[in-house]
This record gives sequence, C-alpha cells and structure tokens, in this order.
Amino acid sequence: MSPSSRRVAQVVTPEPVVEGAGVHLRRSIGTPRLDHLDPFLLLDHFESVSPADYEAGFPYHPHRGIETVTIVRKGEIRHRDSLGHRGSIGGGDIQWMTSGSGILHEEMPQVRPEGIGGLQLWLNLPAREKMSRPKYRDLQGEQLTETQTKDGARIRVIAGETAGLVGPVEGLAVAPKFVDVTLPPGSTIREVVPRGHAAFAYVDHGEVSFGSSRAPVRAPALVIFDDGDTVEASAGPGGGRFLLAAARPLGEPIARHGPFVMNTRAEIEQALQDLRVGHFIRDEPRDG
Ligand code: FE
Repeated sequence: MSPSSRRVAQVVTPEPVVEGAGVHLRRSIGTPRLDHLDPFLLLDHFESVSPADYEAGFPYHPHRGIETVTIVRKGEIRHRDSLGHRGSIGGGDIQWMTSGSGILHEEMPQVRPEGIGGLQLWLNLPAREKMSRPKYRDLQGEQLTETQTKDGARIRVIAGETAGLVGPVEGLAVAPKFVDVTLPPGSTIREVVPRGHAAFAYVDHGEVSFGSSRAPVRAPALVIFDDGDTVEASAGPGGGRFLLAAARPLGEPIARHGPFVMNTRAEIEQALQDLRVGHFIRDEPRDG
C-alpha cells in the first residue's frame, strides 16, 4: 500500500469550562460531545491575560491511572505535590507527569503581565501500569530538540521521532508522538504518524489547512484525523501553530471519575476509599 495522507475526520470547537478553583479553559477532549479519543482523555487550552481567569489555579487534588502533559506557552505555573516535590514551568517548558497509583498535587498559574497560555493533555495508562510508581519528567524548553524545514516551519519534538530526531519522552506503552509545530505563512510540513494510531492536531494560533482540504482551520480548534500514514499541514497567510499528537489506542474499558481514570467502577470506588482513609499515596514519585 502506498503511503496515504490522513484526511480530516472532524473539527471540534473547544467548549468553555471552569475548572479547578475557577480557571477558565477551553476544553476539546473530555466533554459530553467527545468523551475521549483513545488513549487521549482530556485536552484543555488555557490562555488569558486577565488574572481573574486563572489566578485561583488548581489547589491540591489527586490523580490516579493517567499521565498529564502540561505545555506552557507563556507565563508560569508553579507545581508542588504532597511529598514535597516542587518546581516551576515557564514559557516553552513541559511537564510530563505519570500519576500512576496516585499523586496529590497543586498547579498554580502565576499572575504575570503576559498572563498565561498553554495546553494540558491527559493520556491514559494501560491497565497494567495504572498502579505504577508516579514519575515526573520536567522538560525545559532548551532541552527539546527543534528542527527547521527549508521553508521555515519549526518542529519541536516532545515525544517520539521526527526527521531522525527523537524526543525526550520515550518508552511509553502507547508510543506517543507529540510535536509542536510553528508554521510561518505559506509553509508546509508532512509528518509520519503510524497507521492505526489515534491522531489529532490542536491549533492554538493562526490558521492551518490539513490534508488535501483547502479549508483552513482557525484557532482555537481540535482537528481529528482519519487513519493513514502522514499528516500534511500548510499555514494560512498569517501563519499558524499546532500540537500534533498521536498514540496507539489502548482498547480497554474506561471508568472515569474526575481526576481518576481506571478500567472498572470498583477501581474508582477503591481510589475514593483510599483517599478517605489516607491510603491514596502508595509510592514516592521518581524524577525522570
Ligand atoms: Fe492535576
């Protein structure tokens, strides 16, 4: 079979939601309309220069059974957890957190003149890894490899591989490919995405056309692709930026309750019970 370019299956307009202690977000995965896109469970886009939209942040809350990937575009988010780990992620930085069996943490956007901007994505863990040891990977912007095409498109590799460059996040069950793409006006890219993997692009700036479709998608928008071997993108006259994410679907049952995502209702009940009796934290996280 010759390589085929993935076609746009669906364009989803993010829905406004209020989360945490009062943070205004745009959510495109994890909504009544699109519960999940196996193995992606949630996608939130935060962007505001008004402190009232974000300063309340996400005070202490638990997670179990998932990975959370936070991509900061601008501003700063301070992070700390119940075991005394703390850090700060700023513009260009990424935190890839494996909650595994359980973590209690706080994510607090800092009030800055430039406001806050970025994405948070939840990636499911396979059943056999849901109760694994928590782990952090804090990726500073400068640690990420970036490649530039002849016509000026810039591709930052977060996970997986592009043009011979391998991103720092490797070895996960769902084999994620995450690349952060900035397209100047008129530029195009073609990225290889394994056949059978779920794939989407989240356009958070400008206008981008995908596949053979001439119709540009204007930010903010989630673009879900049909199956195929590559994703092709070209920028509109003002340029554009998007996160391209692909991963192998797990095909496992999903039982979700807020920040817990397990396979069965009984496992959710167990998480709630563990939280009530103070057995939620099983293992100390390790840094990746
Ligand atoms: Fe969280």
